Amino acid sequence: MKAVCWHGAHDVRVDTVPDPEIVNPRDAIVRVTSTAICGSDLHLYDGVIPTMAAGDILGHEFMGEVVDVGGAVTNLRRGDRVVVPFTIACGRCEPCQAQLWSLCDNSNPNAWMAEKLYGYSASGLFGYSHMYGGYAGGQAEFVRVPFADTGPFKVPSHLADESVLFLSDIFPTGYMAAENCDITAGDVVAVWGCGPVGLFAIKSAFILGAERVIAIDRIPHRLRKARECHAETIDFDREDVLETLRVMTGGRGPDACIDAVGLEAHGSGSLGAYSDAAKTSLKLATDRLEVLRQTIMACGKGGTVSIPGVYGGYLDNVPIGAAFAKGLTLKMGQTHVHRYLPRLLTLIDDGVIDPSFVISHRAPLSAASAAYRMFLEKTDDCTKVVLQPAA
Ligand SMILES: [Zn+2]
Ligand SMILES: [Zn+2]
Repeated sequence: MKAVCWHGAHDVRVDTVPDPEIVNPRDAIVRVTSTAICGSDLHLYDGVIPTMAAGDILGHEFMGEVVDVGGAVTNLRRGDRVVVPFTIACGRCEPCQAQLWSLCDNSNPNAWMAEKLYGYSASGLFGYSHMYGGYAGGQAEFVRVPFADTGPFKVPSHLADESVLFLSDIFPTGYMAAENCDITAGDVVAVWGCGPVGLFAIKSAFILGAERVIAIDRIPHRLRKARECHAETIDFDREDVLETLRVMTGGRGPDACIDAVGLEAHGSGSLGAYSDAAKTSLKLATDRLEVLRQTIMACGKGGTVSIPGVYGGYLDNVPIGAAFAKGLTLKMGQTHVHRYLPRLLTLIDDGVIDPSFVISHRAPLSAASAAYRMFLEKTDDCTKVVLQPAA
């Protein structure tokens, strides 16, 4: 089959690789009909996530048709149309039973790698390094889905791929980011990053009752998309983010701040941003933290900082004192995708939201290399690329 394979920083290729096979009775094989490139794939593309190996198949946002199931899978049949959560979960361990699906105890066969870095391992992930299980991803014609009796979520035939594909990751991720803000009526929520997760966080914040959402980015087409989602916007290249937020909120700061950027923040020319850039390039620091610093400094007293953006390493010059002084709550982590699927499918089916609004480009799987570059460089007003293996 054809699959998008990682070969090093800024080097992805569409290779011919062996078809996946059932290796466990709880597996299924899915023929991928649509898959997307995620902002977090760019961290792999940039080579900043450890434990990648040449030839690894990328992709954790995908859906398709079940073409084979293992003997223990009774809930799926050949021909079922499913969306697959990017977090792999067994459904039986203590975290899974507690609906903390992205913290599954059983789905990462390389847990020891994550334990070295983090103390304990979270769940395995599709197409996201050996530290997260080394699972082949879904930017491919076919994919093996472990724990298929738990993960794949059937979607109705009257909803197009493009309307349901993002249930695999970015819609639940944006929604959980907003839910983590414990929004109450009248709240003002600020969102850093107007990429797809940021846009879903904006929409979700409104769905959950926010009165105003203020979105921060610097790329005109992303700011325009945010305004189309009814957010007010701040261009961080033109305005001082902290001062502008203070003015826009009558001097009290947002009730919640969402960091939908993560470890590769571009920074706004501040000293901290220059320091991050220098230190990460010299391998003296792991993450670029400008957005995290801003969310903590900007957040109003007693507020929440919600972090759907991916971080990997250690904090450098993060104002933990400000978080303490203002009594902030910090919430973060990989999305518990499974928990949100029925709820979010209902929102789609009821017409409350059509997730396809984030898509800017569609391309055949064979064009993945150019698509990654375009998505990284945000050229041609690119916000989200869907790859179609059959196109
Ligand atoms: Zn993703
Ligand atoms: Zn589990």
